[in-house]
Amino acid sequence: MINDKFHDECGIMGVYLKSKEINCASYIYYGLYALQHRGQESAGISVNKDGKIQTHKEVGLVSEAFKNGALKQMKGNIGIGHVRYSTSGDEGVTNAQPLTVNHSTGQIALAHNGNLINDNALREMLEDSGVVFQTTTDTEVMVNIIARGLRHGMIEAIQRMVEIIKGAYALVITVGDQLVGVRDPYGLRPLCIGKKDDDYFLSSESCALDGIGAELVRDVEPGEIVVIDENGLTSYGQNNWVKKKACIFELIYFARPDSIMDETSVYAARHKAGEILAKESPVEADIVIGVPDSGIPAAIGYAEASGIPYGVGLIKNKYIGRTFIQPNQKLREEGVRIKLNPLKECVEGKRVIIIDDSIVRGTTCKRLIEILKQAGAKEVHFRVTSPPVAHTCHFGIDTPRRKHLIGAKKTVEEIREILGADSLAYISLDGLTESVGGKTTFCRACFDGEYPMEVPILETNE
Ligand code: SF4
Repeated sequence: MINDKFHDECGIMGVYLKSKEINCASYIYYGLYALQHRGQESAGISVNKDGKIQTHKEVGLVSEAFKNGALKQMKGNIGIGHVRYSTSGDEGVTNAQPLTVNHSTGQIALAHNGNLINDNALREMLEDSGVVFQTTTDTEVMVNIIARGLRHGMIEAIQRMVEIIKGAYALVITVGDQLVGVRDPYGLRPLCIGKKDDDYFLSSESCALDGIGAELVRDVEPGEIVVIDENGLTSYGQNNWVKKKACIFELIYFARPDSIMDETSVYAARHKAGEILAKESPVEADIVIGVPDSGIPAAIGYAEASGIPYGVGLIKNKYIGRTFIQPNQKLREEGVRIKLNPLKECVEGKRVIIIDDSIVRGTTCKRLIEILKQAGAKEVHFRVTSPPVAHTCHFGIDTPRRKHLIGAKKTVEEIREILGADSLAYISLDGLTESVGGKTTFCRACFDGEYPMEVPILETNE
């Protein structure tokens, strides 16, 4: 039921420990644990000891991928890690990351969060010049371009690469005695820097830094390359810096509420969105509930702003993993409620306001309204903390084709009728901007169709 969502596809982590005597693999492991919500298909770690790179990656959750002492065998003070939800390339361990290639002076390992939109053309160009690809991912395209440019030095190799790749990317790379972080010129995908004494950390989200006792220093800036080595951190620019357009959906849904992203508290942004919704779309009701987990802070915000009590109306089963077999149609009709179950005591006989972060296809919301009514809710008023999703994402977020996005084709009233809600309201685009502190440095293309760069035209209309 909770699969009717956009999906982030990766979390990345990088660690540089000043002392060569200390092993970084455990830091990466626990960092990836904190980033598990960003990808559950596969997990991997590469450690670098004096330029020699050792990689372990497996299909499954972090806990499954590093069973049987795999972690203990990894030695090195520099390393990178990755959790993956596949969007580009097929599922499976071949496409798991980090990816390692050998080059004339050694080895390089790279992990990527995002999606390139011109990787097919680049892949063909590389194949024409003799490169044989092992995977179907855009990540392998990048690692090969960097490896081929390393004779010019690492910084120039990366700068040359970012001039020809197009799309969204946050990268962690280890080569020689260095850890490198790169963010695309728009900063579409997140990457932040942490520090603990003389040790440095890079992570998709600050919650992973908290998890290993490091302090958040700052975000890697859009178009910035950071190099960490025995001299500390050095920042370099890219030649094609444009302007910041970080993904606003990170704050709406993907990121953990305890993360700080682009200087914005994810929890505070969601709470504020709930307050704004209460002002924009008030309705008389007895209780406000949230769809776990991302709808909860907004439900609390809505309740506080409206004066209507907050309640726990839905219980989520937290033990449903990636191998969960969806109930068949018959079981669904019989009312099995495996993932989310309403708390009858809270909703029976009441006018219920339910807050969710987004409506993608609409199937989940329809089902939620049905089960709340079956549990005795007198009225169900649906409130959404993002505007109608009407456009496909091309920047590393798994979205259905446009024709399957209910917000692309139907009016709000038509959607209300399809869902069976007593009322339906979305936050306005201005309200969403206000919830993230009024900043206009966010990509909102899935709502307004204004992509920060040219995207393949055919797919936008399909
Ligand atoms: S289109 Fe939407 S999901 Fe994709 S990067 Fe932009 S805001 Fe994020």
